[in-house]
Amino acid sequence: MTPHAPDPGPIQADLEALVALESPTEDAARVTAAIAAVETRLQAAGAEVARIGGREGFGDHLAATLPGGREGAPVLVLCHLDTVHAVGAFGAEPVRVAGDRLVGPGSVDMKGGVALAIAMVRALAADPAPRRPIRLLFTSDEEVGSPTSRALIEEAAAPASHVLVTEPAREGGGLVTGRRGVGRYVVRARGRPAHSGLDHPSGRSAIRTLARAILEIEAMTDYSRNVALNVGTVTGGTGANTVPEHASALVDLRIDDPADAEAFDARIKALTSPDEGVVLSVEGGINRPPYRRTPGIEALLAMAREIGADLGLALPDVHTGGGGDSSFVAATTPVLDGLGVAGGGAHTLGEWVDLGSLAPRAALLARLADRLARE
Ligand SMILES: [Zn+2]
Repeated sequence: MTPHAPDPGPIQADLEALVALESPTEDAARVTAAIAAVETRLQAAGAEVARIGGREGFGDHLAATLPGGREGAPVLVLCHLDTVHAVGAFGAEPVRVAGDRLVGPGSVDMKGGVALAIAMVRALAADPAPRRPIRLLFTSDEEVGSPTSRALIEEAAAPASHVLVTEPAREGGGLVTGRRGVGRYVVRARGRPAHSGLDHPSGRSAIRTLARAILEIEAMTDYSRNVALNVGTVTGGTGANTVPEHASALVDLRIDDPADAEAFDARIKALTSPDEGVVLSVEGGINRPPYRRTPGIEALLAMAREIGADLGLALPDVHTGGGGDSSFVAATTPVLDGLGVAGGGAHTLGEWVDLGSLAPRAALLARLADRLARE
């Protein structure tokens, strides 16, 4: 432990408690229970809290404010409590600690980051320097694209001077300063069914038309522009002896350049059936827009590195292929992502946290928020 960093004991205790509260996105009651555990801790630390009721089958969200006595634009910290892991996926005892590793569902993505945010509130509440308010938003549906929290995130970010996101640190402790955008689509073909033996000529195959569309979609991939299209699933047909009436495919689009987002979205939506008697339809759109480093993000990164140097943290910056909630706000507000804990195996059954990163990363988050709120 560096002399500058807080005692990791309480942070690890929070982390273990939160990971033990398994919270797959689709289990609203369990996600809400994890949200409640955060609420209790923040309240005890002196934050004002407000619960936002869950809807559309998702859990509650939680907003919190650490009043600092000064007026002005708040600093916003973004976290999510949902995980991608089904209950029981890590066994009956989901949390395992061995040496300086903690393994468990959602440990690195991102209950570690949540534990850091709680530690930040405790540290800053105990130090009553005049600051602008620090707001926190804990959401329940990030892993499925934030359908019920996106508007809350955008609303909370609009008045904020800066947004800090506690998604996991990248390789070597890296911070995220850019993300590719993500689009999701369902492409459906509808043809005309017929008995393949008795009436083949009158059939119009949905699978045949969809197959052409799939080749067309995959051909849009352009690595030179960092654009990738992936047809991830295909379904269709009812049996070998029936000309298929229905077929559908799930498509994932990744784009790097904001200008490409609209262009590729339009190209996918413009797909039509070249086959008479078969109709092709496309549903979906850009789910998270891409973002790249802006001067505001540069300045935030420089400040984080200055603090990191004092804590012995190297903070390389990373442009990542994955989408995240920071994508919603980066166009309007300087955002720094990847401020969570170090570890690895996100979204796998080996997901782990480097316990040695708890104290220094908690100090980094608290000092960064503190400094921004005093500006
Ligand atoms: Zn995450």
